[in-house]
Amino acid sequence: MKLLIPGGAGYIGSHMVRYAQEHGHEVVVLDDFSTGHDWAVRDCEILNVNLLDHYKLSQLLKGRQFDGVIHFAAKSLVGESVKKPAMYYRNNVIGTLNLVNEMLNNDINTLVFSSTAAIFGHPVTDKIAEDHPKNPINPYGQSKLMVENMLQDICLANDFNATCLRYFNAAGAHESGEIGEAHDPETHLIPNILKAALSNESNLKVFGVDYSTPDGTCVRDYVHVSDLAQAHLLGFEYMQKYRGFSAFNLGNGDGFSVFDVIKAAEKVVGKSIKYEISPKRDGDPSVLVADSLRAVSMLGWVPSFKNLASIIKSASNWHKNFEDAKV
Ligand code: UDP
Repeated sequence: MKLLIPGGAGYIGSHMVRYAQEHGHEVVVLDDFSTGHDWAVRDCEILNVNLLDHYKLSQLLKGRQFDGVIHFAAKSLVGESVKKPAMYYRNNVIGTLNLVNEMLNNDINTLVFSSTAAIFGHPVTDKIAEDHPKNPINPYGQSKLMVENMLQDICLANDFNATCLRYFNAAGAHESGEIGEAHDPETHLIPNILKAALSNESNLKVFGVDYSTPDGTCVRDYVHVSDLAQAHLLGFEYMQKYRGFSAFNLGNGDGFSVFDVIKAAEKVVGKSIKYEISPKRDGDPSVLVADSLRAVSMLGWVPSFKNLASIIKSASNWHKNFEDAKV
């Protein structure tokens, strides 16, 4: 297939690009490099444009043919979304609308959309399946849910197919150690733990220890970024059989607290990791664990990284390379 990958220079996007290339697909990356990295993509054409620049976007895509689009380009930090909601609605909702508009103009009718567990809000069941109530508690989750709803309507009204993949906590790095998770500032737990381990400083903060969870810290379901990439390609096979709109939750189905993750990382790096307790972050639900049985049965999704240690180990390999390269 020939795939257009908006956001292909970002963390999950760049692993998608690599995975698609490894599976014989041609990739064109579209990115504004606001948070993505040029070192994260290679061997492909790159269109440097922001999705909000509708004119430039339409000029760049005019008359171009793709078998499908995998759309990652978005703002994705919960805390930032609480502080800057307009930025989130503009980038994530209007940006996606501009992209879909150009897809419709150019008869490109198959999309895999990068969605999130944040669309569900506070869980009302132990594990979150696709039909769980959707009550996002922060603008990030709300913006992604708005896009899902918009795509559902667009699929009904047009010859258009969209598969939304709701990631739980993406983590880990490519097995080559060449690409991994590098945000600035870094807000995610596993990279922050590994950075603290490498620097030997106690700059790791644990956000909240009075959640109603067994050890008081938030519980999340960590899923390897290459396993997420696998599900996107399966989404295209699925849409050949089942037209229109669909959605799948992607996680390993096991919940780990912040303290569990720190302990697992200590085993991987072979030393203790210092941290300090900090107040809760705005917009963080206490527990998010996926029920991904639908992805397993309908997409044929078979995640390879089933345990937390293997996910942290892959991230750790990359972090060591990344920090060494800086010196
Ligand atoms: N977290 C933490 N310290 C950090 C980063 C995250 O304690 O430096 C906590 C955060 O409050 C949440 C969990 O770790 O409970 C996972 O956060 P992350 O930002 O990695 O992913 P999110 O669940 O927000 O998508």
